[in-house]
Amino acid sequence: MQADIRTGRLSAAEIEANFSDMHAPLKRAEALVEADRCYFCFDAPCTTACPTDINIPGFIQKIRSNNIKGSAYTILSENIMGGMCSRVCPTEVLCEEVCVRTTLEGQPVRIGLLQRYATDSIIADKLQLFERGLASGKRVAVVGGGPASLSCAHRLATLGHQVTVLNSAGKLGGLNEYGIAAYKTVNNFAQSEVDYILDIGGIDVRNGQSLGTDFSLADLREEYDAVFLGFGLGGVNELRLENDRAEGIVDAVEYIASLRQADSKIELPVGRHVLVIGGGMTAIDVAVQSKQLGAEDVTIVYRRGPDQMGASEFEQNFAQTSGVRIRHWLAPASLKMDGERVSGVRFDYTRLDESGKLQTTGDSCEMDADIVFKAIGQQVLWDSLGDTGESLKVIHGRISANDDRKTSLSDVWAGGDCILGGEDLTVAAVQDGKVAAMGIDRFLRATE
Ligand SMILES: Cc1cc2nc3c(=O)[nH]c(=O)nc-3n(C[C@H](O)[C@H](O)[C@H](O)COP(=O)(O)OP(=O)(O)OC[C@H]3O[C@@H](n4cnc5c(N)ncnc54)[C@H](O)[C@@H]3O)c2cc1C
Ligand code: SF4
Repeated sequence: MQADIRTGRLSAAEIEANFSDMHAPLKRAEALVEADRCYFCFDAPCTTACPTDINIPGFIQKIRSNNIKGSAYTILSENIMGGMCSRVCPTEVLCEEVCVRTTLEGQPVRIGLLQRYATDSIIADKLQLFERGLASGKRVAVVGGGPASLSCAHRLATLGHQVTVLNSAGKLGGLNEYGIAAYKTVNNFAQSEVDYILDIGGIDVRNGQSLGTDFSLADLREEYDAVFLGFGLGGVNELRLENDRAEGIVDAVEYIASLRQADSKIELPVGRHVLVIGGGMTAIDVAVQSKQLGAEDVTIVYRRGPDQMGASEFEQNFAQTSGVRIRHWLAPASLKMDGERVSGVRFDYTRLDESGKLQTTGDSCEMDADIVFKAIGQQVLWDSLGDTGESLKVIHGRISANDDRKTSLSDVWAGGDCILGGEDLTVAAVQDGKVAAMGIDRFLRATE
């Protein structure tokens, strides 16, 4: 089978329509109606479910009284990336899942959309609600430019510390800029949010600077009063099959990054028949976006059942209604090759045995593909980080950190995807950065 991979499967207009905003923002009248649905619960379960502890009834109340600035402040003072989180949080398994309205009538208050309503105009109009704290004279190095690092940097700046952000990528934002699906964050929102965060002042940014190549952890500990590590997960897990680096096997995260950075999506090469191996958000995103770029058929193949998928039920439904097929209980067994290129995958059927262990059933099937995306999770690329891994306590490949996000080193904190227990969610990374900054602040003030 000749691989059918080409650009321009759809017209520019079709692509623009396919990549438009996933959820239209609420208009004022809609926001007021939605805000009116809130019961302003005492001990609000939605707030408890929010990883960044946003006072949800509090910000909704302010929308009702038309105090948008106050509403945004309530959100952003707990989660400086409240704008991005309102777009990308799986609210259906966080605040909206536990909303009392869900229990009573199966339809939660649309908290995510209200949060977006409250924050959008503040970011768009660059209305600064925060100011830099009185200079403490302390300097903190923040490694990485993703949600964990930016949240940490912003909170440190409000507390008066001078921050230097050292980021390997050419732009700040981390996966907000390079990973999140394009239809979740349109109109360059990620960079508008970064600009808003930096606008507070006191944050010196050095892009194109990599820990492990341009400087070491020891250098930073020598030069700065404290260090925060938020370098995320740089490497993807391999399929561990013969020929798994062959032409046609593509790293889903890398493809999504090129999609996010493309000036014109019509110029991105897309396969006609696409297979995606994995069950998380990355699998959903690469599958849906391949479909939106014009792939004829796209199938996600996952080795367990729908309930075990990392992607929520909402995301699975979204993929299916976008034309993506999801096949469960199939594990990749070997790759079909056409010369040097992959032409498909052979799968073993799987099931759980009595002890809950995944077993193959003895049956198998084959699926043809022009492109096979691997989306089976990511890992810290320790080899690229010099001796960082040796100097820190690392468990299961991730940095061990305590409740304050302090590592095994007295002056080093860490957060986001690179720490053990990281939930691989933007909102969790933002919370880590915030908590770490407050721990760093206590440490710096104690050593004054
Ligand atoms: C494809 C995809 C889609 C996703 N979709 C969603 C979603 O819809 N909703 C959601 O909540 N979560 C989503 N996530 C997860 C979310 O993006 C991450 O949990 C979050 O970005 C983690 O933030 P972080 O700051 O820890 O790391 P990252 O965002 O990965 O940022 C790491 C930063 O460190 C920098 N860096 C890396 N190595 C070095 C080094 N050696 N030296 C200096 N800097 C370095 C990078 O340039 C980057 O700026 C998605 C993830 C992926 C991969
Ligand atoms: S649980 Fe629902 S109804 Fe109650 S405060 Fe939160 S958003 Fe309002």
